[in-house]
Amino acid sequence: MDYDTYGSSAVELAIDLANAERDAGPEWAGAFLRAHDEWFEPGTALDLDPAAAAHAAATADLVRAVAVAASQAEVIERLNDLLELAHPKPYATDHDGELHLHYARADAPVLEQLTTTVAMGLSHVVVQHGWQRIGICSAEGCDDVYVDTSRNASRRYCSNTCASRSTVAAYRARRKA
Ligand SMILES: [Zn+2]
Ligand SMILES: [Zn+2]
Repeated sequence: MDYDTYGSSAVELAIDLANAERDAGPEWAGAFLRAHDEWFEPGTALDLDPAAAAHAAATADLVRAVAVAASQAEVIERLNDLLELAHPKPYATDHDGELHLHYARADAPVLEQLTTTVAMGLSHVVVQHGWQRIGICSAEGCDDVYVDTSRNASRRYCSNTCASRSTVAAYRARRKA
């Protein structure tokens, strides 16, 4: 699978959003946007009021809902809920030297840029590569969302850390048995 283009790499923003730590209150949203500022048009204000932060949280929940969905019918329903939030206005650019598409209007508020980029990025990968590509980590104590970019769609963990932690745990359990 080729994730080198912005179109599909935007799914990474969706995954990060779904996995963002939100326990600290509405400030999580501004912190998330600043940590991912390369996704937004230069000059976009990166602060969200509590109402806008709640919208960003709802978007994150929808990405997670797509990841936990157990059937294609469920995925379609949740993906369409997510796409309802998007206001795509695609345009071509080579601002980083590579010709690629951006999904959101350059002058759109950051919440609109966020929801549109997340919805379009996730949809692109699901439609192109299958809904099973978006999953939830199988490691004990981890429920992070991941996108499976492996050739044979064999991924089960969000990260190498979780994969090796689970391998070690399974090894210990076998030795004990
Ligand atoms: Zn770009
Ligand atoms: Zn994990």
